[in-house]
Amino acid sequence: MQAPTLLPTSQVTAKKLVVGPCSAESWEQLLQTAYQIAANYPHAIFRAGVWKPRTVPGLFEGAGTDALPWLADVKKQTGLLVATEVATAKHVEKVLEYGIDVVWVGARTTVNPFFVQEIAQALKGVKIPVLVKNPLHPDLKLWLGAIERIKKSGIDDITAVHRGFYTYEKTAYRNTPRWELLLELKLLQPDLQVICDISHIAGNTVLLAQVAQQGLDLNVDGLMVETHFNPQQAKSDAQQQITPEQLHLLLSTLKYRQPHFKDVTLKNALQQLRLQIDGIDAEILKLLSQRMELVTDIAALKDAAQVSIFQIERWRSILDQALVQADTLGLHADFVKNLFIQIHDESIRIQSAILNKNC
Ligand code: PEP
Ligand code: MN
Repeated sequence: MQAPTLLPTSQVTAKKLVVGPCSAESWEQLLQTAYQIAANYPHAIFRAGVWKPRTVPGLFEGAGTDALPWLADVKKQTGLLVATEVATAKHVEKVLEYGIDVVWVGARTTVNPFFVQEIAQALKGVKIPVLVKNPLHPDLKLWLGAIERIKKSGIDDITAVHRGFYTYEKTAYRNTPRWELLLELKLLQPDLQVICDISHIAGNTVLLAQVAQQGLDLNVDGLMVETHFNPQQAKSDAQQQITPEQLHLLLSTLKYRQPHFKDVTLKNALQQLRLQIDGIDAEILKLLSQRMELVTDIAALKDAAQVSIFQIERWRSILDQALVQADTLGLHADFVKNLFIQIHDESIRIQSAILNKNC
């Protein structure tokens, strides 16, 4: 089939692409997939899990060390850089023996500082890029801790991989993205490269484009996408893999926006709007401060009357009023509810400090 012509190649190539099957199943599967990827994305990093961490036993756990020569051959034949997951020092040793270009630390390994330390130790003195996936649960400290351990072993090319977070409740995603955590990570480590593993977030092919676009809109530095020449036959994560052709279509239809304004007129217009927003933000804070002063007066009355801090009817009426007003003002109900929960929490904290000052 003819490749789609929509591809804004220069914009895609500015992003790091880590693509390839969930697991390395056979030499043929790797080469077929890799050749098709290399045709459009010669700069991509070809991924394939050699040792697969499966949640329950009895499933395909990867071809193991046997698959390393296959990956080495992919590199030789297609020129793609090749990557695989390492979870133990032994894995690192084997991967280095076969000249694998990039390694990643999986979500089930990032959770365990002992394993991460073991990997870091094995990587000492080696020049290899390392991708570190977020831990299964939303713990930024643990993620950054893993990155720091790897960094301390002398690795300077480290990329964080956002692959979403496990929740017991079922959602549309396999792993919920919790984009706000990505933003927090950026605030803490502005220079850290971050790519988004859209396949493990989505867990299916339908949500891939939406997740990828959201990631790009938050300025991620690249994407990881599980890609298999024949996804239906995949031995792991069949439901979320796409063909190289579908990958090409996906990457071609995404919007790659600039991180900054180039047009001066538009940039000035933005500046004006931001100034207005800054003014409104300052007003919001002043009003919040006035509100909390009134809370202090209320606390004094409750203290004098020995009345409890929390009153359900009052809380319910505050929320109801806010939600009615939100509706007329066109504000999202969840947003306003969460905002008022925060305000109310702070109000209770202030009153508690006053009423319990002698406790
Ligand atoms: C994978 O990338 O194939 C994988 C096992 O991912 P994760 O560690 O994010 O679950
Ligand atoms: Mn997978």
